[in-house]
Amino acid sequence: MQCFDATAILQPMSRLILIGLLCALTAACSVPKRPLPLTAHRPAVLLVSIDGFRPSYLFRGDTPTLDHLAQSGAFSPGMRPSYPSLTFPNHYTLVTGLHPDQHGIVNNNMRDPQLGRFAMQIRDAVEDGRWWQGEPIWLTAQRAGLRTATMFWPGAEADIQGEHPHEWRTYDAHFNYGQRLRVVESWLRRPALERPHFMTLYFESVDTQGHYEGPTDTATREAIRDVDAQLSKIVKMIDELADGAVNLLIVSDHGMTAVDPDHHIELDALLPDDSYELISHGALAGIEPRPSHREAVEAVLLAPHPHMSCHRRDQLPTRWHYGTHPRVPAIICQAVPPWIIANQRATRTPTYALQPRVYLGAHGFDPALDDMQALFVAHGPSVKSGIVLHTIASVDIYALMCSLLGIEPAPNDGNPLPTQAMLKTPLRNTH
Ligand code: AMP
Ligand code: ZN
Ligand code: ZN
Repeated sequence: MQCFDATAILQPMSRLILIGLLCALTAACSVPKRPLPLTAHRPAVLLVSIDGFRPSYLFRGDTPTLDHLAQSGAFSPGMRPSYPSLTFPNHYTLVTGLHPDQHGIVNNNMRDPQLGRFAMQIRDAVEDGRWWQGEPIWLTAQRAGLRTATMFWPGAEADIQGEHPHEWRTYDAHFNYGQRLRVVESWLRRPALERPHFMTLYFESVDTQGHYEGPTDTATREAIRDVDAQLSKIVKMIDELADGAVNLLIVSDHGMTAVDPDHHIELDALLPDDSYELISHGALAGIEPRPSHREAVEAVLLAPHPHMSCHRRDQLPTRWHYGTHPRVPAIICQAVPPWIIANQRATRTPTYALQPRVYLGAHGFDPALDDMQALFVAHGPSVKSGIVLHTIASVDIYALMCSLLGIEPAPNDGNPLPTQAMLKTPLRNTH
């Protein structure tokens, strides 16, 4: 039964009260939280992440599918990631439009005064919505009445504000690409009225090989070719849809640069073991001095170092938009590639001892560096052809996706202007 909308002329509060009264009287009508904009034929958005894919991997003969999509759609020679250029912070930036300092996933490894420790391997933390602040696009979309489904995405496994995407899966690296594609295919083949409006897909192998063998190694190129072949299958699936109505966004979270074991900055050589707690290490390190050692640790770290610079959290470069969240450690040390910040204690842990590895690629460096730039390629019915976007950032993607879906974005840190240029028609607030 429909409610007669005699409430349209009233103020919002009195509207709600009157709707409630009318509904109680008429027994069976549902009150949508926000007006449903659902137009069945609005193109869906499929957001694909190729972890650790840097744009310089394109146009070298390894990526015929991506090259074609880039040339016949919109593409950026370098999308600036948010600080720090790590996987969890930037995947969540892509779907919230917020810098990590605002959305709370300030590192892959962090501590929270109330919640304890967070790491990608600690499932309880990854699935705990209290870590994930801000409003991911799947919540924005669901609240506007759209359907959402994720084939892996950091944050999708968490009950953020008590909700998940309508369909989601627990991350499992062994769930192979064929299986992932079959899930996406099952969504795409649904009739337009049942198809999710917002979908994700995630590939990790380019990042994994980039770390193990370095960005220019043949094994990394092989992983790049393989992911491109997977993308060609997706493009074929979309082309085969009767209505072809999917906007494809292919992004990465950050780039990759060459490092090697001869360029390790050993923290152990600088500081006594018991003077600090190491919250994270690698391209950047988060250090919490023990209270009784604060001054001594600061004196050592804040002095100039040849291949890294350390800052108190309130004195970080402003362009990093980082340092106000309580989860950011007291001191952040940022290495300059090919140097990374190492710690012998970390290599003595049982997990490392079981599987010691030499890493020849890393990310987490200054987001301004060329090698840290992320991938952005867009193609579909709403996207102009032959557009090159020179100045976009990962924070801009959330608002772009809201435009494509015709929904109102939550407040965010992105600039909607650069990406509006690639849209055939301005799609904001179409309902
Ligand atoms: P990074 O250490 O920043 O290079 O992170 C890349 C790794 O993140 C990949 O190798 C994946 O295994 C892992 N990863 C990606 N998504 C998830 C997820 N939802 N849950 C746990 N781990 C993930
Ligand atoms: Zn990553
Ligand atoms: Zn990585």
